[in-house]
Amino acid sequence: MTEMITATRVSKVYQGGVPALTDVSLSVREGELLAVVGPSGSGKSTLLHLMGTLDPPTSGTVRVLGHDVSAVRDSTLSAMRAHWIGFVFQQFFLGATLSAVDNVATGLTYLGVPGRRRRERAAEVLDRVGLGHRLDHRPAQLSGGERQRVAIARALVADPAIVLADEPTGNLDSASGAVVLDLLHRLNREGTTIVVITHDTGVADRLPRRVRVLDGSVVEDSARAR
Ligand code: ADP
Repeated sequence: MTEMITATRVSKVYQGGVPALTDVSLSVREGELLAVVGPSGSGKSTLLHLMGTLDPPTSGTVRVLGHDVSAVRDSTLSAMRAHWIGFVFQQFFLGATLSAVDNVATGLTYLGVPGRRRRERAAEVLDRVGLGHRLDHRPAQLSGGERQRVAIARALVADPAIVLADEPTGNLDSASGAVVLDLLHRLNREGTTIVVITHDTGVADRLPRRVRVLDGSVVEDSARAR
């Protein structure tokens, strides 16, 4: 099965000498829905940044769809990221003055899609996440769970190979969090590969594969335990 993202023996030492990740290897295959779980400070976000090509490892390699990201130019890397990886963050990061449809359409900005087609495509994806009736609403007019669904639609709009979600339910009450998790499950059944970063073992326990991170190391991977 296709390996979407493979990190091989990656380490990350931030300026100041703090080792955030040490010798981590992890492969995410097409069609997986996996949790990276661990307590605060264990290195989960660092791993997501490396896997998402937002930050280079200090050592080791990251491959996205087989391409070693350290071997390509910055402009190529930006294009790979825009085409292949969708991001969802705990804080949503939506434009406050933009409608839902315009927020989602921003996910196509770097792909050369004409403006009108961008909005059509954004409306289709909002419909897919159950927000077809909220196209013109601004973030302030939406609930937290709806805002996160807009952010998920934005992550999906370019039809990426993989979605990386950093604490996607972290800012939500439990009912809204459950709706967002159900949505991620459905999107996965429909074919999207998804990695969910979470400190919440209750969230992780609902996902088919769990990778546990502690003090910058992978200490357990349910896929390897099988
Ligand atoms: P988690 O997502 O599990 O909370 P992080 O990956 O954010 O963990 O952090 C892992 C370690 O790296 C922590 O000790 C944190 O303080 C440190 N760290 C994270 N980002 C930076 C940074 N930009 N500069 C310096 N240290 C950082």
